[in-house]
Amino acid sequence: MKCFCGKEGVVFLHYASRHLCESHFIRMFDKRFRKTVRMRNMLKKGDRVAIALSGGKDSCVLLHSLAELQKDLPFELVALTIDEGIKGYRPKTLVAAKRECEKLDIEHVIVSFKDETGSTLDSIVRKKGDGLPCSHCGVLRRRLLNNSARELKANKLATGHNLDDLAQTVLMNIMRNEPSRLARFNDPPTKNKSFVPRIRPLMLTPEKEIAIYAMLKGIEIERLECPYARFAFRGQVRKMLNETEENYPGTKFKVVNSFLDIEDALQKKYAKGPKLSNCSSCGEPCSEKICMFCRTLRFTKN
Ligand code: SF4
Repeated sequence: MKCFCGKEGVVFLHYASRHLCESHFIRMFDKRFRKTVRMRNMLKKGDRVAIALSGGKDSCVLLHSLAELQKDLPFELVALTIDEGIKGYRPKTLVAAKRECEKLDIEHVIVSFKDETGSTLDSIVRKKGDGLPCSHCGVLRRRLLNNSARELKANKLATGHNLDDLAQTVLMNIMRNEPSRLARFNDPPTKNKSFVPRIRPLMLTPEKEIAIYAMLKGIEIERLECPYARFAFRGQVRKMLNETEENYPGTKFKVVNSFLDIEDALQKKYAKGPKLSNCSSCGEPCSEKICMFCRTLRFTKN
């Protein structure tokens, strides 16, 4: 099938019923990336951006796209990898993360669960035995990413979340009846200075297109999947969304666009946000006496 320019198509965009050749696909991808950054005011001149670099395809493509953007918009970039301590998985993605940073000559900082908390995720999962690895991982990773970005004096934390991730997040929050979490999607939980604002420049890019882009641009990606991913609620929602997208192309865009359409209204409704005090154990801001980070680590130290 041909691209509109007459060249051989390499990608078929189901949701747009369109074939694109390599150069038009790359051009469309880059244009959407820059438009997302611009429309949501994600970056400005002089920002210092910490990128959460796992070594997977999304964050590696994000790293390359941000590095490319730096040529037109002067901002600083530092890569931050969290090593949760997941045997057989994280060491391999760490190699990919390091390699991409070296290629682009970007400062790379690695922070590990073991060094910061005394425990690896593997040992926490073993000790807790509650079948909730992703919940524990998420709580610890969010804290370490935020605090490390703060220590690196970054004023933005960029993550590789893509359209699929966002569509899943929207549905998960609806299924859990937690609309207030959606209201906080764009910003940290409060304007509290302890939280580094997050940006997600790939939030309107489908996951499949990120993989194709990486391949066409020669960005080496690590395809391993975390061994704990199968326990996650997100995995169920992902499967459901992928099946629906297959039968009804464009569903993921529609879910995300519906959310973006009501985002302002949600922010107004939940404008107050949670009332924050300081954790009596670690002193970080939290909405309860002891924060989730400290509660997660209780009884897990080696
Ligand atoms: Fe952590 Fe779960 Fe992601 Fe694995 S799948 S890295 S355990 S959140």
